Parts: sequence; structure tokens; C-alpha cells
Amino acid sequence: MDFTRIIEQKDKLQTPLFYYDLEILKATLDAASKEATKYGYHVHYALKANANHKILEIIKNAGFGADCVSGNEVLRAVEVGFKKEDIVFAGVGKTDKEINDALDADIFCFNIESIEELNVINELAVTKGKTARIALRINPNVNANTHHYITTGLDENKFGINLWELEHLLTVLGKCENIELTGIHFHIGSQINDLSAFKSLCLRVNTIQEWFINHNLIIPHINVGGGLGVDYYKPDENLIPDFETFFAIFKEHLDLRPHQQLHFELGRSLVAQCGTLFTRVLYVKKGIKSNFMIVDAGMTELIRPALYQSYHKVENITPHEGTEKYDVVGPICESSDSFGKAVTMPTTKRGDLIAIRTTAAYGEVMASQYNLRDKAAVLYSDEL
Ligand SMILES: *Cc1c(COP(=O)(O)O)cnc(C)c1O
Repeated sequence: MDFTRIIEQKDKLQTPLFYYDLEILKATLDAASKEATKYGYHVHYALKANANHKILEIIKNAGFGADCVSGNEVLRAVEVGFKKEDIVFAGVGKTDKEINDALDADIFCFNIESIEELNVINELAVTKGKTARIALRINPNVNANTHHYITTGLDENKFGINLWELEHLLTVLGKCENIELTGIHFHIGSQINDLSAFKSLCLRVNTIQEWFINHNLIIPHINVGGGLGVDYYKPDENLIPDFETFFAIFKEHLDLRPHQQLHFELGRSLVAQCGTLFTRVLYVKKGIKSNFMIVDAGMTELIRPALYQSYHKVENITPHEGTEKYDVVGPICESSDSFGKAVTMPTTKRGDLIAIRTTAAYGEVMASQYNLRDKAAVLYSDEL
């Protein structure tokens, strides 16, 4: 990533700072869109990764739909101008208010996660005299081989409907007059780099399709969720994820019936690399085993390392002679408030600007004001 203009202005920049490179965002969207369009696939952007207006605007203009996991995300998607027929709404715990808001917005589809939810949506739709289109989120029991906190497609996870419940579900569905079954939905996890997990998902979906066909049901829409990973270790070598291979796996292994449409919900892979969290060094402190580099960003700006033990590349972009090893830590009163252990970096001084890479997904959206911290500043590349 080219930080020339940031370096030129480094003394003026307020930190911590969420910086978004819109050229990288656009290049990523173009690449994903090109590969998905080859096969006529639909991609819905998962708003939960980053819901900033400016970013959503660009994603909407690039022709993507919206995947929401809360009522407020549905409202945000509508506000930004995503077409209602391109909005899907998932989540294990939709409240009545959220369901009503989504019914009012006439969204494309509710991805429902339990039989009880099905009944509630039906009742609320009856009250409004509307028909709710739904997709059944089925738990495919496929292991995504990712961190256990972001694995979602196993029997033991809270997400989706288990296969053994489907028979009963169809009976309930038969009694829900204001529900239209339009799809089946899957989402096996996030930050998936072992692409064979997606092949396993395809094979599983084929079997599940057979089950529906044996019950005389052809489902018009299949939604295989998101989860494509990004390279946190070598962001510059792999700024744009390998969408070509990703979509080709579904083309090769998923048996679509005539007129069936395939949908995806990508979050992280569309946005992660366009964001960098800039932070300034407050103090450099000698420890017993290593040096501590204490920076002005913490888990309040980027909680992923504390929450999932995830890695982000940390770089000192202020040029200096010599190198040393640092534990890069934030100011928050928690030992997990750390961005890296024994990271080799140029000899660092108070005031240096540090780049924490690949932070546009699940960064700013997860920020908190813990310790009564201020909200971090935000800067887009077109404002530099
Ligand atoms: C989080 C989520 C996504 C997006 O996941 P990414 O790993 O960011 O691509 C898609 N669908 C559902 C239902 C989700 O919960």
C-alpha cells in the first residue's frame, strides 16, 4: 500500500485514525464483481464488516446487494439506497421490532434460523397483511477450519436449523400462510483460507438439494453465505483476494438446477485490505524480556487480536536506522490489549507513526468507548 501522502502529513494527522484507501476498495469490488458476473452469481455485501456510509455508497454503486444481521443494518442499507430486492436479513435473534421494520422495508428475504422464528415472522406478517419471503438457514455441519469463535456451520453452533429438524419444519411451513419459501441459506464461518471447506459445503448443499427435490420442492435461491479469508500476514502481496478461484469452486462443485440463482454474502474479503489503523507511539519502555511500544490505539479501536487472537501486520512507517524487537501494546487496562509480540521494527521513538494493516473489516464497527475513550478519527484517501 502506498502511504506516501500519509507520511508527508504525518505530523498533522490525528491518531488513532481509521484510514480507508478507496482505490483499493474499488479495485477489490471490481475483481469480485467481474468473477461473480462470469457465472451470473449475486453478491450481497455483509454490512457488519464495515457500515460506514461512504464505504456502503461505493459498494452499492458497484452493484452489490446487502446482507444484514440486525434491524438497524436493514435500515442503514435502505437509507444508503440498496435496492430492497437485494437486501437479505439473517441472525439467530431477530426481535419483533426488527422483523416489523424489515417487513415494512419489503426486503428480498429473511434468512430464518429456527422453527419458532418462522412462526413469529408468519404472525407478524399476518398482522401487516404481507407475505414474508424466507430462506431456511440450514446448518450443514461443515468445518470451516478457522478460529473456533468464527466457525458457524457445525451442529454444536447456535446458528441455523439442523438437518434432522427439516421434516418437522416443512409441516410447520405448510401452516404458515403468509410465508413464501424462496431459498436455502448456509454460512459456515469467517476468515476461511482453506478453500476446500467451500468445496465440502458445495457437496453438502447438493445432498440437501436432493432432500428437497425428494419432497417435491425446487428452491429458486441458494445462498452460500460468506467467509472468504484475506491475507493478514502479507497484505501487500495479496491486496485483492483470489475471487477467481473462490467462485470457480462453486461453479465446479455446486449443482444448480435450471433457473436456480446462487447468492453470496461476502464481508471481510470485500473491504478488509482497504483499511489501515494509524496510531502514534506514546512511549517506548524497556521490559525484562523485550521492549514495549505503547501506542495510542487499543482494543477499543481494534478488538480482533484480543477477541480472536488474530494477527495484524504492524509497521513503523517513520524511517529510522537499526532494528529492535517490540511488544506493541495499547493504553487500555487489559493485558489482552496487544497488537503483537516481539515484532521486529526499525528502532522506534515517541511520536512515530505506526500502521496496523488490514483493518477495514471488523475494526471500526466493533469499536467501543471502553475506558471512556474518544471515538477515533476517520480519513478517506480522497480527502488527503
Ligand atoms: C458475518 C456473516 C457474513 C460475512 O462473513 P465474512 O466472513 O465477513 O465474509 C455473511 N453471512 C452471515 C450470515 C454472516 O453472519
